[in-house]
Amino acid sequence: MAVEVKVIKKPGRTVAEQAYLPEIAKGLGFAMGRFFKNTFGPQAKKEIDTVKYPEEKVEYPERFRGIHRLTQRTDGSPRCVACLCCSTACPAQCIYIEPAEYEPDDPRYGYERYPSVFVIDELRCIFCGYCVEACPCDAIRMDTGMHMPPSTRRDHFLYDKETLLSIPGRHGTYLTDNPRHEPGDPTYPGIDREHEDST
Ligand code: SF4
Ligand code: SF4
Repeated sequence: MAVEVKVIKKPGRTVAEQAYLPEIAKGLGFAMGRFFKNTFGPQAKKEIDTVKYPEEKVEYPERFRGIHRLTQRTDGSPRCVACLCCSTACPAQCIYIEPAEYEPDDPRYGYERYPSVFVIDELRCIFCGYCVEACPCDAIRMDTGMHMPPSTRRDHFLYDKETLLSIPGRHGTYLTDNPRHEPGDPTYPGIDREHEDST
């Protein structure tokens, strides 16, 4: 069977194109036209939206994954129970947690732990949101609506527990709408057992 070969002709160049100078002038004219239009032209006709950051800020979408925050309980303590689910799920391995026990006179003693150290390296984070999905306590969120502030210092990107707890959500709250039932509450859904110190 004969194979039909389709010959595609190489596009030719005009004399003006081969001389280069008219094409260079054309390109410069195009670039200068855009420059004057976008710099001095009326706002409605501009083709780029340059924002004068940090005086002006872009409003991010509602589901934008911003820098993290740790949510608080109503008494101000972290909701985090140091289960390590988030650090295990994190593909960038940028969450470091040291769990600790509550004091024996705390009703949470023996039921759950808290993070004595909780650090996120925001510069290694790829903002996938897996940590938020993995958390069973709604203790970590990315609903701050903020991107990482620029800095020239590496350590400024290491957010510790106090910093993460001090960042509010985009609507100004440090809590979350999801209810939390503490050990000792009648609504507490966990195993109800006596504490060692009360026996
Ligand atoms: S958003 Fe992803 S990469 Fe960043 S801390 Fe969470 S799990 Fe890790
Ligand atoms: S933030 Fe959530 S997932 Fe991470 S250790 Fe705390 S409770 Fe566990």
